[in-house]
Amino acid sequence: MSPPLRFLTLPFPVLWWPSPHFTPGRPTEVDLIVLHYISLPPGVFGTGDVIDLFLGRLDPRRYADYAHLCRMRVSAHFFIDRGGRIHQFVDTEDTAWHAGESAFEGRARCNEYSIGIELEGDEIHPFTASQYTSLICLCRALMLRYPGIRWGRVVGHSQIAPGRKKDPGPRFDWERLRRGLEKGGDTERG
Ligand SMILES: [Zn+2]
Repeated sequence: MSPPLRFLTLPFPVLWWPSPHFTPGRPTEVDLIVLHYISLPPGVFGTGDVIDLFLGRLDPRRYADYAHLCRMRVSAHFFIDRGGRIHQFVDTEDTAWHAGESAFEGRARCNEYSIGIELEGDEIHPFTASQYTSLICLCRALMLRYPGIRWGRVVGHSQIAPGRKKDPGPRFDWERLRRGLEKGGDTERG
């Protein structure tokens, strides 16, 4: 499963799971990355349930909270699992339903102009080294494709939906991401 990753080149394969949870196209230029965490059930990794949620096929019988969750129509563009594997659900040229009600610098409806990246995790477990490696690589590729995205426009869900959302949470190391992107920028631009 390799397409779409249109316009992006990554040094490793990406798993493509086409989700129905998106609006075709973009009403405006893409210039923001929104980072999230997710784990299903909460705090349990590698179940495959996040993939099922984004594909709209989560089995409500698997876990008590799923009865409510399985009716939600949500998906990020990308999901990075604990092993650092990148899964893609929505083409970056389409509007994925990941941010909900949100605003950045006074601009509402962040879904329309952002790329959503979910990291498999929670507020307790540190994210893995493989996740940072893949995230940095992915952000770098997105920044080349969408020049409006630069440092300062890679934000957490908690920043664009304060009070309502807290991801990617206290275990996410923003400094590590910043350093990784700086280093990558130098290499990319020679
Ligand atoms: Zn989120």
